[in-house]
Amino acid sequence: MENEDVSSEDMEKKKEMVLSMCTCSDCPSWAECGEKGGFCFQTIGKSDCIETEMGCICGTCPVKEKMRLRHVYFCTRGSEKEQSDM
Ligand code: SF4
Ligand code: SF4
Repeated sequence: MENEDVSSEDMEKKKEMVLSMCTCSDCPSWAECGEKGGFCFQTIGKSDCIETEMGCICGTCPVKEKMRLRHVYFCTRGSEKEQSDM
């Protein structure tokens, strides 16, 4: 149980880090609906309001390097984990 607590705390910390670095709101595909980005992160995943892919700037986001992301368009296609599992 202790391990579970540590890992969920860890996930929360990672999520906060991702959100603090996310550049999605500068992206041409961004749609404003009160979301904070971080769609690449597995506990966030797809956007509820971004529907049209009009370019993705994840490639220039510091999170890409830090988390070694291999995918793009997380807002419409799902988190890194979700797309990797496809
Ligand atoms: S990689 Fe993309 S979705 Fe993930 S934090 Fe950066 S800009 Fe946001
Ligand atoms: S995941 Fe990519 S396409 Fe979607 S808003 Fe973020 S930068 Fe833009």
